[in-house]
Amino acid sequence: MLRRVLVANRGEIAVRIIRACRSLGVETVLAASAIDRDSLAARMADRTVTLGPSPSNESYLRVGLLIEAARGTECDALHPGYGFLSENAQLSEACAEYGITFIGPPPAAVRSVGDKRQARALARAANVPIVPGIDRVNHVDDVIAFGKEHGYPVLVKAAAGGGGRGMFVARSEQDVRDNLGRASAEALAAFGDGAMYAETYIERARHIEVQVFADHHGNATHFGDRDCSVQRRHQKLVEEAPGPGLGDDLRNELHASAVRFARHIGYANAGTVEYVYDADRQRFHFIEMNARIQVEHPVSEAVTDTDLVALQLRVASGEPLPARAPTVSGHAIELRVNAEDAKAGFLPRPGRITRWLPPEGEGIRVDTHCFEGYLVPPFYDSLLAKLIVHAPTRPEALARALDAARAFEVAGVATTLDVHQAILAHPDFQRGGITTQWLERELLPGFQG
Ligand code: ADP
Ligand code: ADP
Ligand code: MG
Repeated sequence: MLRRVLVANRGEIAVRIIRACRSLGVETVLAASAIDRDSLAARMADRTVTLGPSPSNESYLRVGLLIEAARGTECDALHPGYGFLSENAQLSEACAEYGITFIGPPPAAVRSVGDKRQARALARAANVPIVPGIDRVNHVDDVIAFGKEHGYPVLVKAAAGGGGRGMFVARSEQDVRDNLGRASAEALAAFGDGAMYAETYIERARHIEVQVFADHHGNATHFGDRDCSVQRRHQKLVEEAPGPGLGDDLRNELHASAVRFARHIGYANAGTVEYVYDADRQRFHFIEMNARIQVEHPVSEAVTDTDLVALQLRVASGEPLPARAPTVSGHAIELRVNAEDAKAGFLPRPGRITRWLPPEGEGIRVDTHCFEGYLVPPFYDSLLAKLIVHAPTRPEALARALDAARAFEVAGVATTLDVHQAILAHPDFQRGGITTQWLERELLPGFQG
């Protein structure tokens, strides 16, 4: 087993990683920005070192500082969490160079899916269905030619994109002309890479993804699927496992293709293969692979009764995957509780938390770094907590989630719990199988008034 892990992240995922390390008897060193020295993760870690000033581009986004922190504290491994440098091949390479175990896939696998155009090409080669698209956008005319041939809408995306940023839906040639330059500039600013590609936008799409896992002994498996179709601006707000209403044949095919893809690219450790499911044609298409632990991993943990972060540590230390394939039981739902005011266009509202009473009870889990008196810093994303429920059936999980969301008391900062309650109480959502446009088209207009 690993001896000492550098936790190269913050917020709830830093807390989550420390917990998994502790359960395995592994020591932790938290690499924190200046403001995060007072965080819950810092209290929990065996030791905390200051990475740099609070802004992420001076701390969490610096490969050199992380390597220095790991070496200075004699860590033999590094966990990157999600976001920040988790999918940055330079970090995994630097770890390899200094003999630090990177708790994630090998650098080559990180690189091969980091460029989403290359990931598309690999999917094609692995016989995994993709959406029609063009991989090279040198000029606005390239997208326009694609639109002429395949029709609109067209989704224009950043090759290095993530977190729903750097993409737009074009419904006409004029849309392409109006937005391509801006989107590419945004991608350059956010990811250091302005390269764009485009694919057919599937109007009535569901976001379905598969949790895959591979070890360093040639074994690869999956931990079932998740439906993450409740999205605003291509960002997930609610996730559930398993995806409701998918037939067994489709589900098996989905799982098999995700594992096939992971094998094809020589993947190791935890990863997520994301698909859009075309609700009209009842077909799925690969969109990308996330080479890291995902924000919504707890719903898969709940239904498979697995600690996926502990498994990441085990696999990184060289253990094989468990011989018995995971089975799925019951239904799990996760709400991403953000410090945002949904009634004010989801404006981020950092500030001091004056009251913090998360729900408790059977089948309820709250992953968070927050506590009463905590000052939510303005420097990072706005996730406060993930509320996860598990129950034997989907209707029971829905009821449990609604109760728990209502019982969650927070004051001092605005949260998205009100919009979560509206989602859970809505008959469309309760029926299951809503598409990615549902939240913005059906629910939010009425909700925001
Ligand atoms: P996942 O794919 O793991 O579900 P996302 O794709 O939603 O996670 O997010 C990927 C990364 O983008 C995460 O690391 C997260 O920190 C970041 N992110 C998510 N939501 C936001 C947001 N509202 N603003 C800025 N960054 C975000
Ligand atoms: P990111 O790297 O930002 O997560 P993705 O490629 O995963 O970007 O796309 C973000 C979201 O946009 C997906 O979750 C999905 O809902 C939607 N999306 C992506 N590609 C398509 C598509 N071709 N048609 C319809 N929706 C799509
Ligand atoms: Mg994605």
